Order: sequence, then structure tokens, then C-alpha cells
Amino acid sequence: MASRVINFSAGPAKLPTEVLERAQKEMLNYNGLGISVMELSHRSADFTKIITTAESDLRQLLNIPDNYKVIFKQGGGTGQFSAIPLNLMNFKPGGTADYLVTGTWSAKAAIEAEKYGKINKVVPKVSKYTNPSTWNLNPEASYVYYCSNETIHGIEYQYIPETNGVPLVCDMSSNMLSRPFDVSKYGVIFAGAQKNVGCAGVTLVIIREDLIGHAMDTTPVIFDYKIQVGNNSVYNTAPTYNIYILGLVLQWLKDNGGAEKMEELSAVKSKAVYDIIDNSNGFYYSPLDKSCRSRMNVTFRIGCQEGDEALEKLFLSEAEKRGLISLKGHRAIGGIRASLYNALSVEECMALVTFMQDFLEKHQ
Ligand code: PMP
Repeated sequence: MASRVINFSAGPAKLPTEVLERAQKEMLNYNGLGISVMELSHRSADFTKIITTAESDLRQLLNIPDNYKVIFKQGGGTGQFSAIPLNLMNFKPGGTADYLVTGTWSAKAAIEAEKYGKINKVVPKVSKYTNPSTWNLNPEASYVYYCSNETIHGIEYQYIPETNGVPLVCDMSSNMLSRPFDVSKYGVIFAGAQKNVGCAGVTLVIIREDLIGHAMDTTPVIFDYKIQVGNNSVYNTAPTYNIYILGLVLQWLKDNGGAEKMEELSAVKSKAVYDIIDNSNGFYYSPLDKSCRSRMNVTFRIGCQEGDEALEKLFLSEAEKRGLISLKGHRAIGGIRASLYNALSVEECMALVTFMQDFLEKHQ
């Protein structure tokens, strides 16, 4: 087998090697059953154990209060862009919601929600991130929606927005479990698993109890939180293998210091990369205000503010020769993006930092 390279992909992203090895070991014969998890009924006792353990590990890792329910669903983050308005838009009369639009993913969620209600788009200027009082939030809104980490632009909130009692909904797909946070500040939290908590195919949703049961009559059964919660995520065939992998990642997180440790490590990793950028005399360029730079997805240009595309291409090909892959920025904004999720170790991140330093010295 070719040795494994260092994967900076934004998602699906690197998984902890221990998780892959365990899955490999259990692939043909799970728990002495003589079959794979993939071949196990979603209603069997063994799968029930997998899903209930995943839920209790998640509850422990995030300190989830008892009045919150957890479901594991298909449909990805994009499915939740629809599920959120379908379940919550009618929570208050008037059917309106505020959407904080800070990048591609919150913008897409707002466009989807417009099908189901009246949407007030609030666009906080990146440089004004630290001043939420300037936002024009509607106190009568059914909910306020935001994306805590915009994966494409590399923008991350370093605080929880204050909504003065209006339920707060968060897309945490790309920074889930990268730091501890107070779940009780939220109405609904969702996260596609394929970045920080598992592989593509399952989305976890954490919902405050009083927000369940307000779905529009036309809500597809698969998106109705009341039905999914009432059936412990197995109303229909759950994405069993994805939930199993997610469970292994949660176990790995517990074994490796949980969200507190991930926060500490992500600070070390992201600081090392941003330091190179900031000390490069503009050779590496980040357009973002420091207060909203993502610890998970570091985006930058090379050569000049607009990016010298030939130099960026060279950077990517030389990086690949050193076994550093998937550093290309999203096609929407170009440039470079280094994703530093939980599974990426400090040593692996430092291999990128060393490469960036060498590249700088050679091409500055
Ligand atoms: N939200 C965020 C923050 C994302 O990064 C992504 C995908 N990268 C999505 C939502 C959409 O998720 P999915 O592709 O699982 O529908």
C-alpha cells in the first residue's frame, strides 16, 4: 500500500487513522456476529447499541442538556437548509426568520428558506463581526439562523450571537466539536459529519424540545423532527454505517481529550499557519479581519492580493510532491485553503508550515 499522505481537504476530510484501522478490523466480522455493520438491520440490538452509544457520547462530549433531542439523519447540511424552515418557520405567527449571511453556506440556506417564509437577510460586514449590536434583528422572528464556520471563505464566529430570546439555529458543519460551547444558547444545531465528526452520509441534529412539533403540514416525513425524534432516528432505514463511523470518531474524541483538547490543538495549528501568512510581507495574503478568521479552514492567496495563479498552481504541485494534498481553494474564490480539522495532528500541520516557509524563501 502507498503510504498515507497528509490530507487538507475541506470535506469529506481526513479521519483519525485509529478510526479507519478499527473499522478495517471490524469490517468482515463486527462484534463476533460474522457480518459487517453494513449488513446489520437498523432495528437489531447491535445497531441500537451503536446508535445509543453514539448519542450518549455526543451528549457527554458537548454536555447536552436533557431538554435537547439528538437525531442522526441523511440529506446532508443541505437537507437541513430545508428542514429548518419546514420545522421552525411557523414557530411564531407571521412566519419570518432572520438569516445572518456571511458566506456561501448561509446564503444558500437563506435562499432555500425563502421558499417557506419571509426572510430578513442580515449581512454583517466581516470587519464588523465584533459588533453584533449593529445587526437589525427582528424580535418577532421565529428564529435567527447563522453558520458558525463558513467553509469556503474561511470565516468563523468566535462567539455565540445574542438573539434576546429568539431561537438561534446554527449550521456547525465545519467546526462541530472543535471547541466546547454552551448548547443551551441554541434552538437547533446541525452538522454534516464529513468534516470533524465522521464520513459523508449522516448529519447530526440537536433540537430543543419546545421547538419540536411545529412543522408545516406539507413537511416531508423524512424532515419532520417530531417523527424523527419520536422514532429515535430509525423511522426509516438510518445511514447505519455512517452512524457507526461517527460513533468511532466520537469515541476517539473522548479518548483524546474531547472538545477542550481540540480547541487547544486547533489554536496551535491555525496560529502556526496564520503566523506564516502574517509574517510573509504580503507574499501570502489573507483578506479577512483577524477577528473572524477560521481555525478550521485557512484561506489565502499567494503572490499578491488577487493571487498569482501560476504561483498558486506551483505551490499546489510542490505541496503534493511533499505529500500535502487537497490544498486548492474552493472554485468559487480560488487561491489556497488548508483545512485543519480535528483529525489533522499538530505534526501534520507543521509539515505544511515548513513547506510554506520553504516556498516563501524560494519564490519571494
Ligand atoms: N454547511 C457547511 C458549513 C458546509 O461546509 C457544507 C458542505 N461543505 C454544507 C453546509 C452542505 O453540506 P452537504 O454537502 O452535506 O449538503
